[in-house]
Order: sequence, then structure tokens, then C-alpha cells
Amino acid sequence: MNTRFSQRLQGELDALKAAGTYKYLRHLTSPMAPEVDMEEAGHVIVLSSNNYLGLSDQADVIEAGVAGLQKYGAGTASVRFICGTFAIHRTLEDRIAEFLSMQSALTYVSCWNANTGLFPTIAEEGSTIISDELNHASIIDGCRLATKSKRERYKHSDMSELEGKLRAADPRGPILIVTDGVFSMEGSLANLPAIVQLAKKYNAVTVVDDSHGTGVMGKSGRGTIEHFGLEGQIDIITGTLGKALGGAAGGFVAGSHALIETLIQRSRPQLFSNALPPTVAASSLAAIEYLESHPELVEKLRENTTYFRQGLKKLGFNPLEGESAILPIIVGEPSFAIAMSEQLLKRGLFVTGFGFPVVPEGTARIRVQISAKLTKAEMDRALAAFDEVGREIGVLDRAS
Ligand SMILES: *Cc1c(COP(=O)(O)O)cnc(C)c1O
Repeated sequence: MNTRFSQRLQGELDALKAAGTYKYLRHLTSPMAPEVDMEEAGHVIVLSSNNYLGLSDQADVIEAGVAGLQKYGAGTASVRFICGTFAIHRTLEDRIAEFLSMQSALTYVSCWNANTGLFPTIAEEGSTIISDELNHASIIDGCRLATKSKRERYKHSDMSELEGKLRAADPRGPILIVTDGVFSMEGSLANLPAIVQLAKKYNAVTVVDDSHGTGVMGKSGRGTIEHFGLEGQIDIITGTLGKALGGAAGGFVAGSHALIETLIQRSRPQLFSNALPPTVAASSLAAIEYLESHPELVEKLRENTTYFRQGLKKLGFNPLEGESAILPIIVGEPSFAIAMSEQLLKRGLFVTGFGFPVVPEGTARIRVQISAKLTKAEMDRALAAFDEVGREIGVLDRAS
């Protein structure tokens, strides 16, 4: 073992601990749900999961996963184009395409994988990718892999800066505009109507990663595109199966037949890495079907989010405005956000604090995420904990 190397890493870890920004993993011993059992803190309410619709422990979803495992076994032990595609993959992909009103879809083991597979494949020589500066890390890394492309960033949701970059891009293209649908640390939506208009004007291709929007936004949970009534006007949608849609893992790209064919032929994670495990394909399919037959879950999520937002405001907190199920409370320094989340955990509330480099310096935050399955009693208990901690550590003065 190279002890010098290990000591060097340990030194960096010690520095994180000294700065109060070290992340401690919490160990859950029960399924993800509004209330969970945690080794470190006992029985707690969860306000930091992406389990927006509460489908990760839904009976139909679990049963479908078990049935998928029994029918297909653990997996194919092979990449897809060799002998690694099950019928359940095609069924799931057809369903995702239909759910999103796209021609075709292709799954990956994660949305991270989907984004890092997509951009280097489609952004050929002469292309330009124009990306919102607050896009998810997987988009940033996906773009970094697109080494043949010119890569540009615009200030968060700044449409005039985006237009400037479009005007300057090589019109022979392709020109790609890429954005999150819902920005995960802000809870805000991309200005998709303006982006679609600009894309038309400059003949650009639109790519929306709607990982936090799918199952959350739009009347039937089809996402930010449904929210804005822009079905059929976005070229490429990427998303995750690891959030509202069952919460296991998995991601996808949806788009034209030609795009999906191209990804099957050339996208490196498709060519060199195994497919989604069949149990996950089956449980994700069941989650989509469950959502389609229970659109009232989306409405309940919206009601819960409004209730919690108003509750926080009554206490004197000032969560960022937005229409998603994410309520960020900016507190300033990362050590402060982490201390606050620790105090909340002591009171039975699991909610995570985020600091630099996940969010810009000086904007550390507590990020509350709402689930449709939270009861009013649970939300009231959570608000009481926020009230106590807010007073105790003086965050109410800072947050308002
Ligand atoms: C969570 C998230 C991802 C990553 O999803 P995984 O399927 O867990 O890899 C990608 N993009 C965005 C916008 C996300 O919010």
C-alpha cells in the first residue's frame, strides 16, 4: 500500500472535517418513505428524498420488481448489442416514449450515464453546445466529453445571453441548447417557452434533462414540458428513473427514431456497459403505469408543497420561490447549513444541507423536498422542528 498517498487523502478529509463540510453517510434500515428508520438517528421524517410520489415502496412497484427478477434473473451478464437486451427493456422504452409523447426512448443504468452517453455521440465536429451554468453535474460532464464540440455556457436562465451565444455559433451546426427542466438546487423551472422560440429562430436542437420534473410538473406528471404545454416541441428529453419514477436507478434519452438508433449504434455506455437490471426495468415500468392511473398523486404533491411552503413562511423562513417540489432555504455558509441539518436530525427530521461546490459560494442552503405521501401531521411535526431549530441557532434572522 502506498501510505504516503493514503496519508495525503486523509489530510484532505481532515480538512473537510475541520471546515465542517464533511459529508457523513446516514444508514437507513427501512424502505424510503415519508418516515424511515436510520441507524444514526432512529425513526425520522424524510424531507430530502427525490421520492416525490412515494412510489419507491409502493406495493405494485415492489411486486413488479420481484416478478421481473424471477422472470429474467439478475441480468444478462452482457452489454446490450451482444446479448444483453431483454424484452422488458423494449417494453419499458416504448412506454417511456409514449409517456413523454416522443418517437422513441433508450434506457441507461442512470441519467448520469444517459447524459454522458448522449453529448459526445451527437455533438460532432463543428457543433456548438450551449448550456445553462446551473445545469446538473452529469450534463456538465457529458459536455466535457464532447471534445469535438464548441462548448458555451450562459448565465442561469439569461435568455439574452443565450441568444448572444446562438448568434455567435457556427450556423452549419448542429447547435444544441441544453437545460435542466427543474433546477435541482433552486427548485426553479427553465424558461422553456423562450428557449423553444430561440431554438426555432436559430435552428437549434433543444435538450431538456427533466429529472426533477418528471412525475412532478404538469397536470399528469409528464414534466416541465407538459407544464408549459410544449409537447412535441423539444427535440431530446433525458431523465431519471431514480427519482419520482420508482426511485431505484436508471435513466433514459427520448427523441426521434434516428436519434435513438444513433445512440444504440454509437453511444459508448450502450456499447461497453451492461443494461438496466431487469428487476429495475420492471419496477420502473410499474411506477410509470401507477402514475398514469393515479394522476391525483401529482395534485397531492402540489398541495403538500404549497402547505409546507406556507408553513415555512409563517415561521419566518424565506424559501426560494418556484413551482416544483423543491424548497431551498438559503443560509449562507456551508458549516451553518450542515449544523442546521444536524440539529433538525436530532429532532427527528432528515433534511440535507448543501454548500460549495454543489451550490455557488456563499449560498449554502437547506433543501426541503416534498413527497405526495407526507401526511399533514408529519408536515406539522416537521414545521415544529424547523421552528425550534430556527430559533435556537438564529437562522430565522438570517433566512428572512
Ligand atoms: C438526479 C439528476 C441526474 C442523475 O440521475 P441518476 O439517474 O441518479 O444518475 C441527472 N440529471 C439531473 C438534472 C438530475 O437532477
